[in-house]
Amino acid sequence: MIETLVKPLNKPYCTVMGIINDKCQRCGAIIDSHDFDGFGRLYCRECLAYGKIADTTIIYRCERKITVKNHKIIMPFVLSEKQKEASCFVDDCLTQRQTGFLHAVCGAGKTEMLYLGLFNAMKKNERICIAIPRRAIVIEMAFRLMEVFPTSVIKPLHEYAKNDDDADVVVSTIHQLMRYYHEFDVIILDETDAFPFRGDAFLHRLIAKALKPNGVFFQMSATIDQELAKMIHRKTIKTFTISARYHRQPLDVPKIYNVMEMKTMIFGNHILPEIINMWLNRHLSEKNQVLIFVPTIKYGKLLAMIMQTKGFSTAFVSSESTDTTDVINRFRLRKVNFLVTTTILERGVTFSNVAVAVISADHRIFDLDTLVQICGRVGRDREFPHGEIAYFCEELTIAIQRSIKYIKKMNQRGNKEGLLDNEMPNMR
Ligand SMILES: [Zn+2]
Repeated sequence: MIETLVKPLNKPYCTVMGIINDKCQRCGAIIDSHDFDGFGRLYCRECLAYGKIADTTIIYRCERKITVKNHKIIMPFVLSEKQKEASCFVDDCLTQRQTGFLHAVCGAGKTEMLYLGLFNAMKKNERICIAIPRRAIVIEMAFRLMEVFPTSVIKPLHEYAKNDDDADVVVSTIHQLMRYYHEFDVIILDETDAFPFRGDAFLHRLIAKALKPNGVFFQMSATIDQELAKMIHRKTIKTFTISARYHRQPLDVPKIYNVMEMKTMIFGNHILPEIINMWLNRHLSEKNQVLIFVPTIKYGKLLAMIMQTKGFSTAFVSSESTDTTDVINRFRLRKVNFLVTTTILERGVTFSNVAVAVISADHRIFDLDTLVQICGRVGRDREFPHGEIAYFCEELTIAIQRSIKYIKKMNQRGNKEGLLDNEMPNMR
C-alpha cells in the first residue's frame, strides 16, 4: 500500500493515526514520551525532515494498482556457469521466500544474476523493489532493467522521481521506501555494505515496513559486514559467493606507497610529493587514464589545482559538482587524463581502462568496504581486465591491510574453484 498525509481523491483508502503506543507509524521510531511540540502533541523527531508525524496526524493508505502484463526477458549476453548457478540461487531464494545474500566481487556481473529471479517473480504478479543507497545507481539500474524486460514497467524512484504507477519493479533509493506499507513481495537490497544503509536503524526499519509480512528480503554486496557475518554464522541467511569476475581474470592487488609528510606537502606547501609526481608521470607517458580518489572535497580541489599547475590534464568531481555527468563524459572520451574524485565515484560507475590511485589512503573515510569498491574500478572490461592500483599513505591502517587481504583471498578462492584462467604473480 502507498501512504500519504493527504486524503486520496476518488480512491478507497484506510487510515491509521501517526503515533500509536509511542511508535511512529511511518518510520517505526519509538517516540520519547517527552517529545511534545508547541501544541502539546507527541511527535516523531526521526522522520521530521519528511513532514511532521504527530499523534493527531492521519496517515492514509491505499492500494497501488498494477495491471497484468505479458513479461518478456532479453538477456544481454550468455551467463557463465557460475553466474547461472548464482541466478538459480537468487531464483530459489525468491521462490522459497528465504532471506538470501549474494556475495559477489566487484565486476562479477551481479545485476545479471538477478534477471531470472525477477522474471519469475514478475510472472507471478509479485510486487518487486530493488533498493539501492545511491540515486545515480538507481537511475542506471532502472535503465538496464528496461532493456532486459521490454514489456514490463520499471520505474526509478528517488528524490526527484516519485512516479510508481503500474510499476512491476520499482528501483528506489532506500529513503523513498518510507511511502510504502506492506507493499512488496520482494525487496532486493543492492550495495548492502554502502553508506548510508550500513548500521542505519532508520533505513532498516523502512525496508521492514515496506516489505509484506510474508515477503522476502534479499541482499547483495561485495563485502560482508559484521551483521551479515553473524547471520551467515548462525545460518539465518542463505549465502552464495562469487569470488571471480565474469572475464575470468583475477582482481588486481593494490600496491602501497609510503609517502612521508604527504598532507603537509600538499596542504602546507601546495606541492606534489615526488613519489606521486613520478607515478603520475609514468601513467601519462604510458597514456593511461587515472582515477584519483581523495578523502575530502577540499583535498580534491587543492590536489586538482596543484596537478593542473604542474601541467597534468586534470578534472575534479565531488558531491558538490553540478556538472558530474559532463565531467565523466569528458573523461570517458579521453579529453582529460586524470580525474580527481571523492568517494562519490567509488561504486556504480564503470570505465573501461583505468588505473586507480588513492591519495591519503590512511584517511578514516577509506574503510574496508570503500577501498574494496575503489579497487573494483579497475579491470572491469573484458578487453582490459587489469589495471594498476596505488595506495599512497603515511600510515598503514587496518582497512588498507584488510582490503589487500580480502582481494588476495578472493583470488585464491576463485583460483581454487577454477573460475580464473591465469594466476597473477602478486596473488599470494
Ligand atoms: Zn517517524
